[in-house]
Amino acid sequence: MEIKNVRVRFAPSPTGALHIGGMRTALYNYLFARKTGGTFILRIEDTDQLRYVPGAESYILESLQWAGLLPDEGPGFGGGAYGPYRQSERKDIYQRYAQELIRSGHAYYAFDTPEMLEACRQETQEKGESAFKYDSQTRLKMSNSLTLPEEEVQARIERGDPWAIRLKVPSGEIIEVDDLVRGIVHFQSNELDDKVILKSDGMPTYHLANIVDDHLMEITHVIRGEEWLPSTAHHVLLYRAFGWEMPRFSHLPLILKPSGQGKLSKRDGVQLGIPVFPLSWKGDTPEDSFTGFREAGFLPNAVINFLALLGWNPGTDQELFTLDELVEAFTIEKIGKSGSRFDYDKAKWFNQQYIMATSDETLAGLVRPMVEAQGYHPRESFLQAFCGMMKERVVVLSDFWDTGRYFFEDLVVFDEKTIAKKWDTGNKTLFEGMISRLEALESFDPETVHQAMEAYMQEKNLKPGDVFPILRIALIGTMKGPGVAEMLSLFGPAELRRRLERAFGLFDALVSQ
Ligand code: GLU
Repeated sequence: MEIKNVRVRFAPSPTGALHIGGMRTALYNYLFARKTGGTFILRIEDTDQLRYVPGAESYILESLQWAGLLPDEGPGFGGGAYGPYRQSERKDIYQRYAQELIRSGHAYYAFDTPEMLEACRQETQEKGESAFKYDSQTRLKMSNSLTLPEEEVQARIERGDPWAIRLKVPSGEIIEVDDLVRGIVHFQSNELDDKVILKSDGMPTYHLANIVDDHLMEITHVIRGEEWLPSTAHHVLLYRAFGWEMPRFSHLPLILKPSGQGKLSKRDGVQLGIPVFPLSWKGDTPEDSFTGFREAGFLPNAVINFLALLGWNPGTDQELFTLDELVEAFTIEKIGKSGSRFDYDKAKWFNQQYIMATSDETLAGLVRPMVEAQGYHPRESFLQAFCGMMKERVVVLSDFWDTGRYFFEDLVVFDEKTIAKKWDTGNKTLFEGMISRLEALESFDPETVHQAMEAYMQEKNLKPGDVFPILRIALIGTMKGPGVAEMLSLFGPAELRRRLERAFGLFDALVSQ
């Protein structure tokens, strides 16, 4: 299907850190725009002053930057005639459109105070009726421009009484939303309330601002989370009232908890000790502070790949996709309807694959700050070789330090049990002979080192079990880790002598206790 001039938007509200579900929405919009040669727009929906959180907008930008999902248009990204892209800077526009709806009879002024609305809620509750709704059934009993005389309405506005403009939802209609993911979804208009679309401080609510902007920014496809599906019924009514053509809607399936039960929430991250945000976020309270995928040691490409498959399915067995391959394979038709389980083990698997596929040079650039933060400043060639040797053994970037710290610092703790069992002070001369043999080698690549060790062991009648555990622990303290010859090769002759001699001293002290 050839679609012309696609324009899609990612429209987050800066109310806190961007949840990983928001990142997925940004990603799918980005993929669709790239796939169709369209435009990817970032719009900041910051009309709700009460929920505005300073720092949230820059968090969103930094997250998109980290993931490589930069918009073609947006605050600070250009776009000319379509801007500004922050709704708080578009206030006047919404007022004009709200007035237009009043004139055409699709909206009305309501003067009910919060206390009056509360009284209505109380009353319905006391009567045991279903919760009070401001709608086609109740609005003619309320205080609004449908029930008050024209002069009274004007007088109240001029007097500065608080008001709200509400959408006049028709009664008894079936509203149809044609969704590209879910097909046709029906809503009964009687179930919908007369949503406030503009408040007396001149600020629009989400519904009005969202559809006015989608119209003015010529958005062709709305791709967003499933939680917005119920609002779409109101949006359809607004489009109809303005007489505007609607964009095509696609509502993305929920992201479910790792257990598969219920929607993934930010609290799940804290409870399970896993990241559910792209970047770390420091809120006012510990409960509102989270670790991000970036800080947990994930590569952005791995997170993108993981997110792409949370709700979209390529229809093949392929799991690893570069961003270009995702663009190539992506279609809205292959987005699923049912919730997708947030499988953290799978995220780690992706990260492992991406770390393995990353060059030693790039990894060294990522690992260096961690190592330097610990006070070590290794040579670049050493660090790159270290990364090359360790990259098949790590899951997240911090593992490079956590499991590889002994490549930088001197041995302090070591596997004493194995040493107590295997170390024989009398064998020290045999090990020293091996060191000298290695020092004499012309080339120090792992293969040559390995062969020289094998030859030496055969000559001296040593078994692998007598030699390798000792060397392994002498070099890095544990039985785990890369192959001994690889490690010896990395350290080089001078450092291996220093390390082994020092370790043998420690081993002697241990067994003589
Ligand atoms: N501002 C809404 C949000 O925070 C946008 C929803 C939409 O895309 O229409 O997700």
